[in-house]
Amino acid sequence: MKATRLALLGGQPIRTKPVPPHKTTGEEEKQAVLRVLDEGYLSLFEGNAAPDPPFSFRGGPEVQALETEWAQYYGVKHAIAVNSATSGLYAAMGATGVGPGDEVIVSPYTMSASAACALVYNAIPVFVDVRPDIYCLDPDSLKSRITPRTKAIVVVDLFGHPADMDPIMEIARRHNLIVIEDAAQAHGATYKGRLAGTLGHMGVFSLNVNKTIQCGEGGIITTDDDDLALRLQLIRNHAEAVVGQINRANIVNMLGYNYRMTEIEAAIARVQLTRLEGLNKIRVDLANYLTSRLRGIPGFAPPAVLPSCAHTYYLYAFQYDARVVGLSRDVFVSALKAEGVEFGSGYVQPLYLQPVYQQRKLYGEVGCPFSCPFYGGEVDYSRGLCPVAEDLHSSRLLVSEMVRAPLNRADMDDIVNAIEKVMDNAVILQAKAPVDMSLNNAGGH
Ligand SMILES: *Cc1c(COP(=O)(O)O)cnc(C)c1O
Repeated sequence: MKATRLALLGGQPIRTKPVPPHKTTGEEEKQAVLRVLDEGYLSLFEGNAAPDPPFSFRGGPEVQALETEWAQYYGVKHAIAVNSATSGLYAAMGATGVGPGDEVIVSPYTMSASAACALVYNAIPVFVDVRPDIYCLDPDSLKSRITPRTKAIVVVDLFGHPADMDPIMEIARRHNLIVIEDAAQAHGATYKGRLAGTLGHMGVFSLNVNKTIQCGEGGIITTDDDDLALRLQLIRNHAEAVVGQINRANIVNMLGYNYRMTEIEAAIARVQLTRLEGLNKIRVDLANYLTSRLRGIPGFAPPAVLPSCAHTYYLYAFQYDARVVGLSRDVFVSALKAEGVEFGSGYVQPLYLQPVYQQRKLYGEVGCPFSCPFYGGEVDYSRGLCPVAEDLHSSRLLVSEMVRAPLNRADMDDIVNAIEKVMDNAVILQAKAPVDMSLNNAGGH
């Protein structure tokens, strides 16, 4: 066993190279941007059912071409481009028709907007725990949280692995619930041969700068339902000014926003879609290589992939067992960081522990929507509500962003070499670790 001194204790780090940026754009995006600039219309949206051409309620040629190409690629009837996945989730939730007094089921282990979209419509997020293997909503826990108030479910394909959608859709069908699939992290992932983002009634994708493909900021909503598609278009673009013009009878939640994507973003996103498979191939190759090297190291559980699924590794998430390694997760992460390999600890705090849920206060001083007189339920946001998500967050999960272009297998070797070096020195390090980082304190935050 090599007894090389840890960087944390004054030795040479395994890696000194910084992690290069995830640049997904190239010459074709540059040409696409120039094409739009030369044409001169940076946006062609207007919040009017019949504006003067070339302005349109549906946006300009780049936005509409992106929607057509996205719908074709995903094999869905409609794709609606918006300015972020957050806007997409908000619009999708509005399109379901939920409102005050309704409950929306969501996983707590996700980006905050997956649940905030319910609050926007004065509905109450009800959190259901995740599966310990794939970190997505657990269909078995879901059943027990459905009440007569439940109207919708937000399912998240976390880290690039699809949720177990068949049982979820079956439960939704039996209870007449609308399912929004948050596929912001799962471009190109598949479930039983079907693409993530097409498995619910609506799917939401992100095109923000950190996602697998991106146009700076942007989002796409997919659906096969014509009326949901129209509602999404209305919410994207000043619904309240347009519903009268089109004589729409049902105007529930038809308050519009400006969620419109610009022509430049759409032109970039169109090129990005053609890069998706290539970019995913790199992620999958790096992740599989990393898994093959981590498998068998005691104390590390590489990501699980359900038999019928293709994971696209937006993040590489694996489980760490402090007792087996003999180092608290915090000490382990600090030692690795000193070696030049950074891991995120625990992903996000389960959402119900955020102030908005703990204080049950959002609109004004009166506590709406939680204390809304139309809401007769008693929602639980107490610590311990979702033990799997809490345990993953506080003591088990580690995530790496390094499974992406332009990184390569040598970078994965750095990760494994750094892990092995820290493990070889676990006894020395544990003896020197400050008391507040001791093993007994694992999981203390
Ligand atoms: C990134 C992300 C979002 C939000 O995407 P934006 O485009 O930044 O608004 C929503 N949900 C999940 C799961 C995400 O990872």
